[in-house]
Amino acid sequence: MKKHLLFIITILLICIVLFCACSATGQYFLFGTFIDLNIEGSGSIKTEKEIASELERLEELFSATIEGSDVWRINYAKANEAVTVSGDTMAALAICKNIYELSGGAFDPTVYPLVKLWKFTADTYTGLPSAPPSVEAINELLSYVGFNDMIMLDETENTVTKSYDEVQIDFGGVAKGYAAKKSADIAQGKTALLNLGGNIVCVGKSYKIGVANPRESDAAYFGSMTVENGFSVSTSGDYERYYEYEDVRYHHIINPKTGYPSGINSSTGGMNEDRLVSVTVISEQFADCDAIATAALILGKENGVALLQSLGLKAVLIDCELNYLLVGNVDFVKK
Ligand code: AMP
Ligand code: MG
Repeated sequence: MKKHLLFIITILLICIVLFCACSATGQYFLFGTFIDLNIEGSGSIKTEKEIASELERLEELFSATIEGSDVWRINYAKANEAVTVSGDTMAALAICKNIYELSGGAFDPTVYPLVKLWKFTADTYTGLPSAPPSVEAINELLSYVGFNDMIMLDETENTVTKSYDEVQIDFGGVAKGYAAKKSADIAQGKTALLNLGGNIVCVGKSYKIGVANPRESDAAYFGSMTVENGFSVSTSGDYERYYEYEDVRYHHIINPKTGYPSGINSSTGGMNEDRLVSVTVISEQFADCDAIATAALILGKENGVALLQSLGLKAVLIDCELNYLLVGNVDFVKK
């Protein structure tokens, strides 16, 4: 009898160990956002841990607020001082430069001083209504915005040089996509769904992915689509960090040409009719997808669609009346 009991307990323990080894999940708060890792297959616990430590390593390099990070050292360097950065930071900067050029300057990490002025950084954001900054304050900071004029990259020496002391950058629009690509590389050979704050990668099989409803709570979704193995999805929207003041919605994605949140007419202070409220890009180019979604949101309906089409990407765009528009062949189904 005792022997039988021991046998059953052993079998049960083996089952528990096997079950644990076949799937792993992890939740984190990094890059100013929530991260969900779901990995299946043998060795998934080890893979989950490897991805988590890679994400923590990248956060230490990319954060604008962690003292001593690569981005922090660039931001607090003097003009013409060459700052040596890691290969990852240089690779992310090269993506920024490429998407800056492809988007005609809509994607531009040098808007960071304006993101701070509008109080949309993780440490300044409250969501409470407040009057927009003065035109003078916006114009003053705009003189330090413009990636190609403000930031010089030496990709051989891995150094970054600024034109003015005041120039500062922020990887908020590109870091999650870059980190998603790194995570997917680690998860190769497994089946995994990795969600880095709206930057989702499907590894090993296709998944049904929901597009958030830009005007409803987190749980609600607007529609869904099937995303193939090896593809990623990146969403940018005006609903992540925002506040409303006198019927105008001010949000965290800044148009580098005007210094105002995208979709706002800087002359009238009102909202443009062709503004987009959400852009979801589906692509195999994980790292770039994040920056492209941010760029398309800033460009608005006509120019955003033109950018996505010129790059041959698939996308779901949602306008301010909550009508959606598809670019490329997407099997999107509205809820
Ligand atoms: P995402 O969530 O990818 O759309 O990125 C939004 C974040 O990117 C913001 O919270 C800012 O940190 C940063 N950002 C805002 N405006 C721009 C811009 N024009 N170009 C690049 N990054 C931006
Ligand atoms: Mg982005």
